[in-house]
This record gives sequence, structure tokens and C-alpha cells, in this order.
Amino acid sequence: MLNIGCHLSVSQGYENMGRQALALGANTFQFFTRNPRGGKAKSIDTEDINNLIKLMEEHNFSKILAHAPYTLNPCSKDERTRQFAFETMADDLRRMEYLPDNMYNFHPGSHVGQGTEKGIELICELLNSVLWEDMSTTVLLETMSGKGSEVGSRFEELREIINRTELNTKLGICLDTCHVFDGGYDIKDNLEGVLEEFDRIIGISRLKALHLNDSKNVLGSHKDRHEKIGEGYIGLDAFERIVTHPILRTLPCFLETPNELDGYAREIALLKSF
Ligand code: FE
Ligand code: FE
Ligand code: ZN
Repeated sequence: MLNIGCHLSVSQGYENMGRQALALGANTFQFFTRNPRGGKAKSIDTEDINNLIKLMEEHNFSKILAHAPYTLNPCSKDERTRQFAFETMADDLRRMEYLPDNMYNFHPGSHVGQGTEKGIELICELLNSVLWEDMSTTVLLETMSGKGSEVGSRFEELREIINRTELNTKLGICLDTCHVFDGGYDIKDNLEGVLEEFDRIIGISRLKALHLNDSKNVLGSHKDRHEKIGEGYIGLDAFERIVTHPILRTLPCFLETPNELDGYAREIALLKSF
């Protein structure tokens, strides 16, 4: 069975996200740890979180995915922005331990003119200060589209971040279908080739989750504009090949398509039908 969910709002509380996922036909979900543009997270409600854990056990949920705020940029030129990234991720990862054994995804960041090499150095500085030996969360680097000065649109860059992180057993990759396609990896007509390249450069065992999004733009456009499943340049046939692929079909998948809840429910049903 496909493990699939979509992005849900954390403002309704944790247990309610689980119930909403079930109502949509999902068995997992993604949520922002706090306002996507940053700011303070709500205080921890352990009863609410424990109710979610119980619900997830009862209904055989797969791992869920917390997403860091978009403003988190560990390789900014600005010291204060880097400090915010450090404080936010450190706090998020401490909080994630109330939901043990799940996943936390972040955008490696934008080097804003400092160069990819410097960007990678700063990203690893962050990871080397926020990860700890006994943490149960897997931290995922998201594959990026390469818009602006984004780091992480090439598999080689993600490999380099993993190499230079001491506790890299805590790291995995979240492959975003829109981002890799916009980044120039042809998952539409050469899925097998892209996965082979991923395996050769990063190692397929690092792949822990998928973001399923179609793209409003063509292969290699470096744009990052998500489209509904089947309505963009990746197309429905490619999504069928992705969710039925022997390597990919067991991974938790998360929709981040431009949809309201009813649209998500339709896409979940469609993808499960393959
Ligand atoms: Fe993302
Ligand atoms: Fe994504
Ligand atoms: Zn995106």
C-alpha cells in the first residue's frame, strides 16, 4: 500500500492533523513546525502529541514529516539570519523528540553570492552544531530546483553536505519531484537513469521521503512552481511510474500541490489507485 499524505496546518493541533489525514484517505502528513515565514512555535502540548502517536499506531501511519520554515537559511551572508537558522533548527529538533522516530526536512539554503562551496561549509557548520548522538529524528535535505543561489539542486552538492557532517547517520534526502525536474533531472522520461545517478552519487538508502508535485515549468527551468498532479510538465504517466516503482513505492510521499483539502483527497485517491 502506498504511504501518502499531504501538507496540513499545524494550527489545528497534532491529533487533529492525524484525524484530518485519515479523513483525506492518507496515512501520513507533513506540517510546518511553525509559521513558514518563521516566528515562535507554540508551546508543546504533550497530551495532544501523545494522542497523535496513539492514533498513528492504531491506523498504521508511516513516518510523518515536519518541514522547517522557508526563511531558515543556514548559508545566508547575514550573521543574524544564520543565528535564526541555528536557533530554529535546534529548537525544532528538540521538540521533534516528543514525536520519536519521525523526520524533519529543510531546504539546504541559498548562498546569496558567496558561492556553493562557502554555502556547503556553512550548512555543515549548522548541522555539526545541532545534531546529537541519541536523537531519534532523521533530518532530511530537500532536493532543490536551483532557483537563485540555492544549494542542493545537484546530487553532488547533497553528497558533499553528507560527507562533511560528522553525525551523518542522522541525515537522509527528501526528493521533491518538481524540484529535481526543474533542476534538470528527467524523472518524466528517464526515471531509471535519475535513480541510478542518485544511487551512484548519494546512495539510494539515503532516500527517505518524496514530495510529489507536478511542475508548471519545463525540465531544467530552475523555477520551482508546483502544479497539481497530472496538470504540469511531469504528467500523470510519470507519477504512475514513480509511485509504483519498486524502490520508491515504500517511501512516505507528501503532496505539496496547489490544492484545498478536497483537491488533496482526490490526488491521494488517484495515486493510491495505481
Ligand atoms: Fe520544501
Ligand atoms: Fe518540497
Ligand atoms: Zn517547491
